[in-house]
Amino acid sequence: MVKSDRSRETKRRISPELPDDPVIPVLSKLSEEIDTPLYIVGGYIRDHLLGKSVKDIDVMAAGDGIAVAKAFAKKVHANNVIVYQKFGTAMVTLPDRNIEFVGARKEKYHERSRKPSVQPATVTEDLSRRDFTINAMAVAMHSSEYGVLLDPFRGRVDLKKRVIRTPLDPDETFDDDPLRMMRAVRFAARLHFTIHRETLQGIKNNKERISIVSQERITDELLKIIQAEKPSAGFILLKETGLLEIVFPEVDALAGVDQRYEHHHKDVFYHTLQVLDNISEQADDVYLRIAALLHDIAKPKTKAYHPQHGWTFHGHEELGARMVKHIFKRFKLPLDHVPYVEKLVRLHLRPMALVDDQVTDSAIRRLLFEAGEEIDDLMKLCRADITSKNPRKVKQYVNNYNRLVKRMEEIEAKDRLRHWQPPIRGDEIMERFNIPPSKLVGLLKKAVEDAILDGKIPNEYEAALEYLYKVKDDIIREYNERNFNKS
Ligand code: ATP
Ligand code: MG
Repeated sequence: MVKSDRSRETKRRISPELPDDPVIPVLSKLSEEIDTPLYIVGGYIRDHLLGKSVKDIDVMAAGDGIAVAKAFAKKVHANNVIVYQKFGTAMVTLPDRNIEFVGARKEKYHERSRKPSVQPATVTEDLSRRDFTINAMAVAMHSSEYGVLLDPFRGRVDLKKRVIRTPLDPDETFDDDPLRMMRAVRFAARLHFTIHRETLQGIKNNKERISIVSQERITDELLKIIQAEKPSAGFILLKETGLLEIVFPEVDALAGVDQRYEHHHKDVFYHTLQVLDNISEQADDVYLRIAALLHDIAKPKTKAYHPQHGWTFHGHEELGARMVKHIFKRFKLPLDHVPYVEKLVRLHLRPMALVDDQVTDSAIRRLLFEAGEEIDDLMKLCRADITSKNPRKVKQYVNNYNRLVKRMEEIEAKDRLRHWQPPIRGDEIMERFNIPPSKLVGLLKKAVEDAILDGKIPNEYEAALEYLYKVKDDIIREYNERNFNKS
């Protein structure tokens, strides 16, 4: 008898034990003091059960969430409570984490908006309006039930089975708030879960509804997908559900575009995803990952058939670079990262065109000069871009690549082109030769730059000055003649 009681007891409590987190006893005490049942809910519980530790906590109160947030803030002497009156929620920001409070609620949605009207509700009703079963678990903080796991939708089983599933009818869940479709894909991609068959069908049925979601929220989810360990999983789900065509038509259009095998996968979409996964193994930087996603973005637009060469994509790197800004604007991404992504897309073919031993140092110098600080990321992209299924070919391309990297290192060591500063500044040129600010100054600077890149002179002040004295008269004469002819 005693034994079975105890086993039932342990079954109800969360196991493994809640983490040793100083916020938990505070919540528990507070719950008694204000006589309001409090629950930790959502991501914190999900991630704890997955063995991950998380900082941010969502707290559900069987009462007024905003009042509880204020009481909590007072208790921990936090002076920062951000109240979202409209949503009935409040956030307390602690030095290294956010604690968010919400009263248990029901939500009623309207067709043209994802912002519901809200009513107080029971704790189970609150859990049922949450997006996925794995996010619909709560652990009680008040002493009478402390540590009890509320899991009305068997989220724990779904965590074990590694599936994303809506607590209620998927069609209703996604129709109510279509952002949840992107969240489903994001959680699947980041947790390496699958999406349950009916939930997946629900997304397919409701994909058009994504149009009522703000671009900022869609972009947020896309960035989280791109930052997954293996982002291809998310893009394949977006493709399969039809969301990709709506949220990222340029990437969707890569599917079905054939290319020659060589060092690439045949289909540009799957090739791109492979490149994205490859780069993600080496780099967390989201903009480098975006560059990988966009490196062949203009292939559908430049595709042409050539009787001898098969499919060609002339100029796709240049056109692709020109598409970057437009895409960043639409996604409301920070435009200060545009030049970086543009540069990588524009230059992504250049290194592999230089692997031939016949290629001169000067050609390599020019690439080092153009890539500047971005040379390492460009080379990472280039390495990731080798995706052949044929191991013999991969070996050959990788050998070529390694040889090129070595040559680049030798040239860089000698000529220091990465942190290029012109050895003679425009001011000095104007002063020495007594010429006003004009195009002529640029021409003289360019002459020095070309001489260095062509290996005629070393990248040094003395040599540059001497060279300039030698060529300046010709350049000035040519400049004057041209201007004279024009006028
Ligand atoms: P993470 O913080 O890692 O993104 P999370 O699960 O904590 O994951 P949040 O966006 O912080 O996600 O939301 C907290 C909880 O609120 C979720 O676990 C879920 O229960 C609920 N939730 C969030 N957004 C939605 C939504 N659009 N529809 C339904 N429930 C949601
Ligand atoms: Mg969270």
